[in-house]
Amino acid sequence: MANATTPLLADDRRSAHSDDLSDSEEDALRGRSHATHTGRSLFSRSREALLFIWALLATAGVLILAVWISHHQQTSFTKPGGKRNLVFMVSDGMGPASLSLTRSFRQYTDGLDYGDTLTLDKHFWGTSRTRSSSSLITDSAAGATAFSCGEKSYNGAISTLPDSTPCGTVLEAAKRAGFVTGLVVTTDITDATPACFSSHVDMRTQNDEIALQQIGQGPLDRVVDLMFGGGRCRFLPNGTAGGCRKDDVNVVDIAKNDFGWNYIDDRASFDELWLGKKDVPLPMLGLFADTDIPFELDRRQLNDIYPSLSEMTETAIRALEKATKDSDKGFFLMIEGSRIDHAGHGNDPSAQVREVLEYDKAMKTVIEFLENSKVEGVMVATSDHETGGLSVAKQLNVEYPEYLWYPGVLANASWSSEHLAHRLHKHVAHHDPSIADLKRWIHDELVVPGLGIADATEEELTTVALYPALAQPALAKMISDRAQIGWSTHGHSAVDVNIYSYSAVGGPAAADALRGNVENTDVGRFLREYLGVDVDAVTQELREKRGLDTSAKQQQQNQLLEGDDESTGSRTGNGGGHNGETTESQPEIPDHWTAHEELETHRLEEEEQAEEAKEYTEV
Ligand SMILES: [Zn+2]
Repeated sequence: MANATTPLLADDRRSAHSDDLSDSEEDALRGRSHATHTGRSLFSRSREALLFIWALLATAGVLILAVWISHHQQTSFTKPGGKRNLVFMVSDGMGPASLSLTRSFRQYTDGLDYGDTLTLDKHFWGTSRTRSSSSLITDSAAGATAFSCGEKSYNGAISTLPDSTPCGTVLEAAKRAGFVTGLVVTTDITDATPACFSSHVDMRTQNDEIALQQIGQGPLDRVVDLMFGGGRCRFLPNGTAGGCRKDDVNVVDIAKNDFGWNYIDDRASFDELWLGKKDVPLPMLGLFADTDIPFELDRRQLNDIYPSLSEMTETAIRALEKATKDSDKGFFLMIEGSRIDHAGHGNDPSAQVREVLEYDKAMKTVIEFLENSKVEGVMVATSDHETGGLSVAKQLNVEYPEYLWYPGVLANASWSSEHLAHRLHKHVAHHDPSIADLKRWIHDELVVPGLGIADATEEELTTVALYPALAQPALAKMISDRAQIGWSTHGHSAVDVNIYSYSAVGGPAAADALRGNVENTDVGRFLREYLGVDVDAVTQELREKRGLDTSAKQQQQNQLLEGDDESTGSRTGNGGGHNGETTESQPEIPDHWTAHEELETHRLEEEEQAEEAKEYTEV
């Protein structure tokens, strides 16, 4: 073989110099040995090709596996088998600055070490982006729709999509799957966040309709088993004591008679349940205030009238745990620290720190329950958005800013600016003082004992006396200035918010899908996936019951859009241009804060009229 191949090598070298030698001539010259060479070469080439393909496939396989594992780690979670409980907590309007504010405040007031942290801090998990489909700055309705439906929608939407069709919620799907469900809030139970789990309307202002759907008079019948909160006036007919509905429907009566609700409306009845003297009968509707339950700062001095968030939380958990004792399903409970948002709207830092502390206490209650429960369970907590543009610093003049803020100023306040402003409104309504007298009264009755401020300026007192309607922000500003706390708005902001999570049984990684920076809709999707419930089936059922054919509805919507851009455009758009800037003007959606101030004014007027009528009859 070696003899045969040697000349060929020489030939090869020669032919390298002979460009004219064709391939066929060369083949002829090579003869048999060429054929042998070609055979071996074919075999070796095929082997190389096979090896190459194998290597390529193996590499591709490894790559696909790596990508899948990484994706799986990012998006999946350890889904507990069998019975499970899910507690979802919402700190409405709480941004990261509120944590620093409250942590330092507590360290100051309780004389704690700088390393002392809140329960919240110990369970920090990730962060969430918050924009809605209609704006870079969300409201609570679009924020809660992201949690309840796992879908983006427009500001004002109550579990309704931009095409005006309803979307099923995790609570509704949980109820359908056999879980027991509950809602605990400190604001109206018909307010945006609880409403989004238990009703479907186009606009958050439709409180009257929301109340009816929540007790069971909706397309899905009753889906909630327990509701604790405020907003009693939304359930009582217009013109009756404590009623603020626009119609004369008594929702409490319908709830009791047609849907079997047990109803309580005062602290005494609540205490029987809270202190464990009585089991909580389900379904249970507990409405403890006409509108909001007072800020915790005020409530602790009105403790004989209103229960706290942590007390309601503990009672609700005990009730739901007992109700699911013999069930193979657990419960879904949504708990909202609703009024952190209101303290932000009012730019009142002393009210806010107490709201956050009470929310922190409620979270501790939830964690202790999960720790001691034999049932698998998870707590996930987040905020719908930040409110107030809070910053834990404020430059008071053109001088170089000081690097400090004073928690002691917040500690000195014993009432919220909201409570003190309402006292002023009442005083002005019943008396007719001169400005000088009013300034003295404001100083002696509100500012010194209520805010704990002894150095109010003439200008500050004059502002409050001249414009009682602006007293709340003016009084709050007196605290913020002295504590050197800054605010950029009386509305919401677009800052990312924190996510918290805890799980005792089932491992701390249960909410792994929410690690890092996620979209608020990811939080909503996690809730349904953790419970393993079919939200899409509920969406389908809602649409069928409303006689909605999605495509027909979309067609109708498009026609509306073509005919009348202004009336519907801002709701259906996804925020305008690709930069996410809202190109169309935003519709006016009165938020809860404004609406409540109007309600309060209306109530004062009614009180005044009643008093005048009483004086008249007495004369
Ligand atoms: Zn708000």
